Amino acid sequence: VIRIQRGAEPAALAAARKRRTCAAARARATGKKPSFSGYEVARAQLYAAQRRKCAYCERLIGAEGNPIEHFRPKAEAWRGDPWSGKKTPIDRERYWWLAWSYSNLLLACSSCNCVSRKGNWFPLASGSRQLQVPSADALAFDTTFDASVETPMLVDPGVDDPLDHIAWVPLDPNESIERMEWRPVHKTERGRVTIKILGLELAIADQVGDHIRHNVHPRIVAVLAMEGAQAQAAWALTVRDLLADTMPFLAATYGALDHFVPVAFRERLGLVLARPGAPTPGVE
Ligand SMILES: [Zn+2]
Repeated sequence: VIRIQRGAEPAALAAARKRRTCAAARARATGKKPSFSGYEVARAQLYAAQRRKCAYCERLIGAEGNPIEHFRPKAEAWRGDPWSGKKTPIDRERYWWLAWSYSNLLLACSSCNCVSRKGNWFPLASGSRQLQVPSADALAFDTTFDASVETPMLVDPGVDDPLDHIAWVPLDPNESIERMEWRPVHKTERGRVTIKILGLELAIADQVGDHIRHNVHPRIVAVLAMEGAQAQAAWALTVRDLLADTMPFLAATYGALDHFVPVAFRERLGLVLARPGAPTPGVE
């Protein structure tokens, strides 16, 4: 998981949001289920912004056939314990009004999005405030929402830098590269919950291992065999290629570069390892 920058809200989504959020409020007021459609207009822009990758597992995905994922689930929120698998308590009031909010939309692959992974999981940090369910009057006036009052346990790739919460490391650093397995490890409690809910380890550890073995490690070996200006030039090309935003598994590649290229070697030659993922606006 890396940081995603969605860009400006597509105009067609803004139009759908105003119309459909109010319609959803009317449906709920009469005890009906809101009709959740119309956010598909954001697909092309999300796909481009996410560089054709799943927002969670960073696998390359097709433009069609994968769901638009609601970070805050639209139908109901499972507040229970992902380790026991108990979804209860289920919050059935939230978050229907965010179904058309661009800042709540991501493209995810079918396997990350399915009920046994992300599903409708959305546990909150203990003591977190909850988003207020907007009244129909409020919706008639304004259909933009600020979600920042709430602290979710899931890491939000649109808000957080996931690398603050999750790092990819070798399961056994003494293992040979041919047999080395890679795992996501948590740096924070939110990272721990995110790894569990997304099933990151189960989903992509094998593919990550292959990618590091075949695409990442040989480039690193070549750099480490060099010295001076030659090593600096090879390093620049290596990070440009391997951490290009169109490449899959950038979080794991970053972990592998960090693991295999000793800090002392980097410092001696002035090699910089910048984090992949879009920078947080205003920070860099
Ligand atoms: Zn995925």
